[in-house]
Amino acid sequence: MRRDEPHRGLPPGELEAICSAKGCRRPAAYELRWNNPKIHTPERRKVWLACEEHRESLADFLDRRGFLREVAPFA
Ligand SMILES: [Zn+2]
Repeated sequence: MRRDEPHRGLPPGELEAICSAKGCRRPAAYELRWNNPKIHTPERRKVWLACEEHRESLADFLDRRGFLREVAPFA
């Protein structure tokens, strides 16, 4: 599922923003904005959502590849 677009028109159960970590169903607390310069234009941002527990590991994963641009609280 794409997470970089609003989930309009979905049933209420699908509206909940959850963590992007594999197997994690916790609500998102942060959004990690990233860009892969090999496949994205520089101003493009992909977004992963992360819970408190996975913010660091997901950010680290992106940062090690040089993809991480910003981490912001998910509101
Ligand atoms: Zn998580």
